Amino acid sequence: MASPHLMNTYKKLPVAFARGEGAWLWDTEGKRYLDALAGIAVSGLGHAHPKLVKAIAEQAGRIIHTSNLVEIPEQDALADKLCAISGMDNVFFCNSGAEANECAIKIARLHAHQRGIQNPQIIVMERAWHGRTLATLAATGSRKAQAGFEPLVTGFIRVPYNDLDAIRQVAEHSGNVVAVLAEVLQGEGGITGARVDYLQGLRALCDTRQWLLMIDEVQSGIGRTGKWFCYQHAGIVPDVLPLAKGLGSGVPIGACLARGVAAQVFKPGNHGTTFGGGPLVSVAALTTLQVMEEEGLLDNAAKVGGVIQAGLRDALKGLAGVKDIRGQGLMLGVELDRPCGDLVGMALAAGLLTNVTQDNVIRLLPPLIFTPAQGEKLVELLSGVIKTFLAEAKA
Ligand SMILES: *Cc1c(COP(=O)(O)O)cnc(C)c1O
Repeated sequence: MASPHLMNTYKKLPVAFARGEGAWLWDTEGKRYLDALAGIAVSGLGHAHPKLVKAIAEQAGRIIHTSNLVEIPEQDALADKLCAISGMDNVFFCNSGAEANECAIKIARLHAHQRGIQNPQIIVMERAWHGRTLATLAATGSRKAQAGFEPLVTGFIRVPYNDLDAIRQVAEHSGNVVAVLAEVLQGEGGITGARVDYLQGLRALCDTRQWLLMIDEVQSGIGRTGKWFCYQHAGIVPDVLPLAKGLGSGVPIGACLARGVAAQVFKPGNHGTTFGGGPLVSVAALTTLQVMEEEGLLDNAAKVGGVIQAGLRDALKGLAGVKDIRGQGLMLGVELDRPCGDLVGMALAAGLLTNVTQDNVIRLLPPLIFTPAQGEKLVELLSGVIKTFLAEAKA
């Protein structure tokens, strides 16, 4: 049982994991589970990857923390690497996805004020998820998450996702828009992807209007969709790029990358953090990126994601109750025609760790080291659970 001294913020599953290895987890009773969640898109290298364990242990033995008042060579190396793989110019390191988005919002606002815009507005999307701090909560498109925390931070205009005309209309009516903040593949929003023509149109519109295009890849980034970043499938580059989840393989790190004018906004004193980008987390992130390259995990995510999607389509073919199977790489969703939160517990009993978002979308975020055989195992376990669930639960 979880301690009564924990604040009541999570309705936890009745399981605790004692150890993990690769894509497998063992609970405190010794039962084994296939991990199709990876700590919510965090543990891309799986559990206890020997190279990561060694790098973290060695760095901990040298130096864990110094502060951003001094140079941090590990942070420098990570910044160089992230810019090389993303096409961005520079990085601010923080500790979470919400903080990475806070940094993006502050860049947009300061950039606006530097251009003489006193009341800057940022366009955000329906069903978006950007975090739970006050500003990112206001940017998030979930009334459930926002309710009770009013007054919300102002300065956001919400539009439907995948609708360029809606954004053009806002542009006609407000002269104060300075940026668009959006996910390319919405995670919490139900594994909903942006169309390529929408993204390219958005990029062109932002260029014309001198708006910053801020792409939140906290969940979809770091190889999850088969490229380093999901925007790379559309051939665009953002101006601001918040990252977190998969970057440090579970050692908490966030990053906000910027390019062009957005990269020139901050001066000393504008933004900061005590922990961000310290030696330990920087080594964890650098090692994560290095192992991903050595083991070809981008290609692997694309390949195994294909195996899982094809397998699920086959196994669930013609099954009433399954509305859609979608996603990219190892960021996948199975939408049912009814709320399916109870399915998570059933999957757990069957030895599979998964998640449900938007009440009726089963979300799959396996580690990027998943093998095709593990993909097939996932299909077998999940399709069995879905069939049982649909037979038992009324629509
Ligand atoms: C998880 C998530 C966040 C928030 O990250 P935290 O580390 O939980 O603060 C922001 N944006 C997206 C797209 C996410 O998936």
